[in-house]
Amino acid sequence: MKRSPSVVYWLGNNLYLNITNRCSNNCYFCIRRFKQGVGGFNLKLSRDPSTHEVIEELQKVLNLKNWREIVFCGFGEPLERLDCLLEVARWIRKYYGKPISIRVDTNGQGLLLNRNREIITELTAAGVDKLSVSLNAHDKETYNQVCRPKSESAFDSVLAFIEEAKGKFDVEVTAVNIPEVDLSKVAKIAQQIGVKFRAREYIPGFW
Ligand code: SF4
Repeated sequence: MKRSPSVVYWLGNNLYLNITNRCSNNCYFCIRRFKQGVGGFNLKLSRDPSTHEVIEELQKVLNLKNWREIVFCGFGEPLERLDCLLEVARWIRKYYGKPISIRVDTNGQGLLLNRNREIITELTAAGVDKLSVSLNAHDKETYNQVCRPKSESAFDSVLAFIEEAKGKFDVEVTAVNIPEVDLSKVAKIAQQIGVKFRAREYIPGFW
């Protein structure tokens, strides 16, 4: 494990951006509760890096190989820092010469976290083309039990976010395989909305 916290890290052919450790959920299965990081990288930040620092770190590794995707995904919710995320995505689209996917792995609470913003439009305009949304429950009660969100209405807002995002991004809904959650029902919700579904194993690892 590298000692200093990493803002940029990689696994295989994907490059990841760990722009915050803040999150509007407190999921009991969250990897942050069990591990310091992933893939030998320490992801426990002592503070949010500035946008400039994120870009500086990104510049060091961006041209080291042909990355498949750049993913906003770390030990926190990237949409807690919408402006930083948008600026970094715009920078990638402007200065990285090759076609590449920019994905945001999110708890789906972007509407709640960014009231008075046109978050879907802003994300697409900045060049984000994929969203992976952790729905993690088949109903509100289960969501509140396992994800322990700051807002009681989070589940409904996540559904609204997925609905709005559909057709504008390549959207995938995910859920962790834990006993409280009926994965087939989550898959059905995704199907009814018209987006993909992927189950994730509950193992101390990375998803
Ligand atoms: S939404 Fe993700 S980062 Fe936030 S507590 Fe849950 S698992 Fe952890």
